[in-house]
Amino acid sequence: MSAGEERRIYLDHAATTPLDPRVAEAMQPFYAEAFGNPSSQHMWGQRAEAAVEDSREKVARALGCRPEEVVFTSGGSESDNLAVRGAALAARARRGADHLLVSPIEHPAVLATARALAADFGFTLELLPVDAFGRVDPDEVARRLRPTTALVSVMYASNEIGTIEPIAAIGRACRERGVVFHSDAVQAASQLAIEVEALQVDLLALGAHKFYGPKGVGALYVRSGTPLTPVQTGGGQEHGLRAGTHNVPYLVGMARALEITVSEREAHNARYRVLRDRAIGAIDDLVPDARLTGHPSERLPNHASFALRGIKGNHLLAHLDLAGIACSSGSACKTGDPKPSEVLLALGLPEDWLYGSLRVTLGRGTTEAEIDRLLQVLPGVCVALRAADSR
Ligand SMILES: *Cc1c(COP(=O)(O)O)cnc(C)c1O
Repeated sequence: MSAGEERRIYLDHAATTPLDPRVAEAMQPFYAEAFGNPSSQHMWGQRAEAAVEDSREKVARALGCRPEEVVFTSGGSESDNLAVRGAALAARARRGADHLLVSPIEHPAVLATARALAADFGFTLELLPVDAFGRVDPDEVARRLRPTTALVSVMYASNEIGTIEPIAAIGRACRERGVVFHSDAVQAASQLAIEVEALQVDLLALGAHKFYGPKGVGALYVRSGTPLTPVQTGGGQEHGLRAGTHNVPYLVGMARALEITVSEREAHNARYRVLRDRAIGAIDDLVPDARLTGHPSERLPNHASFALRGIKGNHLLAHLDLAGIACSSGSACKTGDPKPSEVLLALGLPEDWLYGSLRVTLGRGTTEAEIDRLLQVLPGVCVALRAADSR
């Protein structure tokens, strides 16, 4: 970090997290030294393969599953693609199932994939209803399951509004009817328990850079016996489910990062909750026409998200950035032509609340002083933006 950046404050840990130095250290030997291809027979290959299988065991331990149920991918998006496409195509090939039941607040990696399956492959996509906090009702899932349902997909926790979904109850409903259930846990894995048996999932997506691992690597839990059509074909890596030479250092890094995350999770969460609730309480007090989005209690410990009436989110983010504070609007929408977030639309927010979203997500390095600084800057920025817009 250069001298001029010292006072910059990063409150966008839902977008990505820095690499943990302990993870970087674990990865180091697998670049230039133990560089072998894990599929090769010789000593170089064997050493790389041992590192891949050791990483698989570590990830399996965190998930409470068998190592052979872990498929390595290039990240959260690929894991979601393999889960949704793979399960949908397999269910149709095996039993003619063509109905997809998906929450409307999913990450685009799930939602756009489901839409592509509908547009290009003739699947019927049904979006589940959600309440004003973005929660899916497990009874609604049960009611909407059809004999032709190929897949249900509901995320574990929302990247945009922080809401935690009742995954286990949804999973139970699916399991009773023999329908495959996928959950995107990419955002949840840094803070919530991910043991797959308790969650009742058949498929669970992870992405390492959301829990202090490297970008461009992820995993998909595939419950043994879950029919899945590969999306990327080629060599026989990953039990034929995902072809391509393994990225050994990244896999080692993901496994180490997950191990650290699970062991330190509760300590970080306890601190996050205090800071998060302070931010939520203060923003409610200090900024008029601000409301929390997502569930008030069933939400990620590090996650505070708001809708601000009559404010343009991209202007707000630009002003905060000038003040040295990095936040997000919560969706992938960047500056330019702001469209209302699909998630906020699904919550039923009125039109004049739809454009001013603010997401504040804490990390291991976040301090009380940083939150105080945000609370010092934000009210004035909101007053100035509202005054400018009403001129
Ligand atoms: C970040 C994220 C993804 C995408 O993961 P990548 O590893 O960045 O491809 C998918 N789902 C959720 C909920 C996320 O937060």
